[in-house]
Amino acid sequence: MIEPKKIIRTKRKTLSLQINENGELIVRVPKFVSDTVIKQFVAKHRTWIDKKVREVLFKKSQLKTYTFSDGEEFLFLGKKLKLTFTHISSSIVKKTSSVVVSGDRLLIDYSKKAKAPELLEKFYKGEAKKIFEERVNYYLRKFNEIFDADYSLKKIKLSSGRRILGSCSASGNMNFSWRIIQAPVEIIDYLVVHEIVHLKERHHKRSFWLKVYKLKPDYRQSIVWLNENWFYLRDFLRDKNFD
Ligand SMILES: [Zn+2]
Repeated sequence: MIEPKKIIRTKRKTLSLQINENGELIVRVPKFVSDTVIKQFVAKHRTWIDKKVREVLFKKSQLKTYTFSDGEEFLFLGKKLKLTFTHISSSIVKKTSSVVVSGDRLLIDYSKKAKAPELLEKFYKGEAKKIFEERVNYYLRKFNEIFDADYSLKKIKLSSGRRILGSCSASGNMNFSWRIIQAPVEIIDYLVVHEIVHLKERHHKRSFWLKVYKLKPDYRQSIVWLNENWFYLRDFLRDKNFD
């Protein structure tokens, strides 16, 4: 039987299981739960754990290390774009960034091929910042309207988390992982809505989910999508063999 790699005790009421990107079992439990109870819980969910571990290890075996070569595919807003080195006129590059999206291609000028990883990083983070700001502002307005509130955008910071894709502080600052702009925009919207509702409801009780529903009625599909696809939201810059 698989042994937990880590047991995390926090202020919570229920036990939960998670398989991380290396196929290891992480168990989250309330502060004063005995080892016997944890063991029983793990044993009870053995079938689910085995299935998830197999899934993660399979996905992991399929992942390639990024080489940043011509024709390689990168996810951007849910679409696969092919990295293409070509000649880009300097007037276009100056106006935008060194990376240009054109149809299903991510264009970088030949002369900058060696710097492709850094340029892509800058591009993804820049786009993430713009998209998050735009979506947060949009949903804040909606939230204020529906719930007669008066929240405004504080600061948005970018992280590179994989499992923790968003968070917000009591003072209203928000934190999102830039990785999420590899996902379709509906998923980004769900994360934005999730954090905005946390400004008012700092828990995951029924009143929290009701507000999420009002802002984004199809939010459950996003949760399903994230459960299936979080694995593919890669930090391709820090990927050595596997991230
Ligand atoms: Zn939350």
